[in-house]
Amino acid sequence: MRVHILGSGAGGGLPQWNCACDNCSLVRAGDPSIAPRTQDSIAVSRGSSDDERWLVVNASPDVLRQIEGFASLWPRAARHTPIGAIALTNGDLDHVVGLLSLRESQPLRILATPQVRSGLVDRNAVLRTLARSADQVTWITLDLGREVRLEDLGLGVTAVPVAGKLPVHLVGLGDPSPEDNVALRVRDLGSGRTVVIATAMGSLEAAGPLSEHADALLLDGTFWSEDELVALGLGKAHARDMAHVPVGGADGSLARLGPALPGGGRRIYTHINNTNPMLRAGSRERTEVERAGWEIAFDGMDFTL
Ligand SMILES: [Zn+2]
Repeated sequence: MRVHILGSGAGGGLPQWNCACDNCSLVRAGDPSIAPRTQDSIAVSRGSSDDERWLVVNASPDVLRQIEGFASLWPRAARHTPIGAIALTNGDLDHVVGLLSLRESQPLRILATPQVRSGLVDRNAVLRTLARSADQVTWITLDLGREVRLEDLGLGVTAVPVAGKLPVHLVGLGDPSPEDNVALRVRDLGSGRTVVIATAMGSLEAAGPLSEHADALLLDGTFWSEDELVALGLGKAHARDMAHVPVGGADGSLARLGPALPGGGRRIYTHINNTNPMLRAGSRERTEVERAGWEIAFDGMDFTL
């Protein structure tokens, strides 16, 4: 199984267009301690052949740039894509806006929970650009806890509910549901190797069971501290209000998840907000993460399990 990080940033990316915080400013200045990041997206394949086909998890607003930056996702014929399916972890715009860029009448398969699909398609005339023909998009339902087998990709995908929230644009229009936000367990149907993708988690309750049998865990690294945005004067919301468990602190994921996964798998933080101090090489926070054996994802990170 091969995993390629297309985008390791949270919503807004790094630098964020309307932000001149320390991190965003350092990136703009070309400081070598910090690299720019596009928004959350991860590609997975069996990694078994040159003509491999890929599952892309989340379609970020940066999707076109991410595809062009990774030759394995380039078309191999006129009107072709090696992207065999797209799976959505929630309906946040940062994860779905890219779908609108993947039109051009290209047939797509999209995996989503019924709630996420409904939030996208119902009463949304713009999404009809993906329904220009009856067979343009094939929706595949992610029922919680049931593995969807994508035989042609050699991958199985299981959605596991994790604490989340409605997308900001749907708050007040519907009731929250366990289908709003999921982690995905992606399994190589041949080797059994498994990557768990949990880039938005409002509590660590599900983290233990999720990471059992994981050869790699890609975890929510959005914020270092609960009051990160408040302390910087950039917002009023705390990390948990936005359904993200912070990395640092006594209740943070670094302290709570312990030094190792049960099976010894890789532990990698991704979906990292531009304000997070662990983005800077040499920072106290980065050192703390690395000492605990965790890795920090970066755009273009690529590994085989
Ligand atoms: Zn910033």
